Amino acid sequence: MKTFEELGLSEPILRAVGELGYVEPMPVQEAVIPALLGEDGDLVALAQTGTGKTAAYGLPLLERTDVVRPEPQAVVLCPTRELCLQIATDLNDYARYIDGLRIQPVYGGSSIQSQIRSLKRGAHIIVATPGRLIDLMERGVARLDAVRYVVMDEADEMLNMGFSESID
Ligand code: AMP
Repeated sequence: MKTFEELGLSEPILRAVGELGYVEPMPVQEAVIPALLGEDGDLVALAQTGTGKTAAYGLPLLERTDVVRPEPQAVVLCPTRELCLQIATDLNDYARYIDGLRIQPVYGGSSIQSQIRSLKRGAHIIVATPGRLIDLMERGVARLDAVRYVVMDEADEMLNMGFSESID
């Protein structure tokens, strides 16, 4: 089993995961983190709920985010409001020592106006349910021109819930 240091993560992230009590990477993290920190390309990871997938994609995503650029660089799509909030909370925990990095959750069933205001203040990473993201794109608020990374969390569940057209 490798350590988080050996996976190639930087000091601010190592400090954050240390404070969260993560002693060693979980198997999906050990497999995925070096791959996502390395070459560009697509990756599919299959692992049960609760096995550490959020950090597996989240830590490399944070490493690859350029805080100096103010526009959204990554989108994380997920099926439900609950998961959306959970992912955003986790990413914020991991990013606590990365100054100025902004993560914004947007999801249906909640006031779009407050989400519009938040997005206008700037976000590097948008965590979204598909329908609400499309709504925000159509209103010109969510601008995805500079997005380089897309994560589909619980992709199987999103397809089961009929989101395939929205995802396309
Ligand atoms: P997830 O599958 O991403 O929802 O993670 C499941 C739980 O495991 C969450 O409570 C995480 O905070 C926790 N977790 C993730 N990675 C680690 C790790 N390397 N060591 C200990 N706990 C972890």
